[in-house]
Amino acid sequence: MYKLNNLTFYYKNTEVPALKNINLEIAHGEFLGIIGHSGSGKSTLAKCLNGIIPHYQHGRMRGQVLFNGNPTETLSIADISRSVGSVFDDPESHLITMEVEQELIFGLENMAVDPKEMQIKVENALEAVGIAHLRNRSINTLSGGQKQRLAIAAALAVEPKILVLDEPTSELDPIGSKEIYNLLAKFNKKGITVVLIDQKVELLARYASRIIVLNQGEIILEGSPREIFSADEKLNKAGVDIPQVTKLIKMLGFRYGKLPISVDEGAACILENMGIGK
Ligand code: ADP
Ligand code: MG
Repeated sequence: MYKLNNLTFYYKNTEVPALKNINLEIAHGEFLGIIGHSGSGKSTLAKCLNGIIPHYQHGRMRGQVLFNGNPTETLSIADISRSVGSVFDDPESHLITMEVEQELIFGLENMAVDPKEMQIKVENALEAVGIAHLRNRSINTLSGGQKQRLAIAAALAVEPKILVLDEPTSELDPIGSKEIYNLLAKFNKKGITVVLIDQKVELLARYASRIIVLNQGEIILEGSPREIFSADEKLNKAGVDIPQVTKLIKMLGFRYGKLPISVDEGAACILENMGIGK
């Protein structure tokens, strides 16, 4: 779906590249997690995927971002957003209308959806993210977490092939975040490719099929969650945490076959090391 060849990007009037020699392929059906310290280039990478760079935000770009074989420079934002749904890290910045329902209708009208289908799509999208009861509310009365849910609903309503989400659960509580991850996993199972930027390593460990780690604009690690979280020294230097349970097992000096990255795996490992396992 995506192929990034030696992508380097400098924002206007900057000397240090925000992205440096990024080589990355994203395949159909993946659930790709992107982690990295603040300022490592995650949002810039998301903007290169959804075409904001180079169409709206200018700078110096070297290398290529190919979307289904075509350089994003040669596609319009409208072309890209027919397939790519985006959720930005600041929901305020891309909620356009005043009312919850209007926000979804706005996106669907842009896609020329049949008005009869519209009502059903609006209802389904709001229900999926658990805010059907807020349908007639004014957006400025919503909490941060509710706005994030609405932004996700708006992205889902147009049934994209790919979702690019930049820290979409930053204002949600732990249960709310897990609900969103479950929802993304459900859509991923239906064939939607998910590209998710997040700091929540516990959840990414559980849901992502692959993770990349950015450090100062470069990809320094790439692999399955278990491979990534095995490289704890490298992650530490890059300012990225590993799941708490993984840290605990390492601290205790316990033996393990495969590195525990979930609470269930951690519990099994502890019981086994204490001689009370199965
Ligand atoms: P992250 O999302 O990982 O926190 P960003 O992609 O937002 O990182 O930023 C990467 C780098 O680019 C940072 O050094 C940041 O200061 C810089 N940057 C981001 N946006 C701009 C901009 N509009 N103009 C200049 N520099 C920017
Ligand atoms: Mg960011």
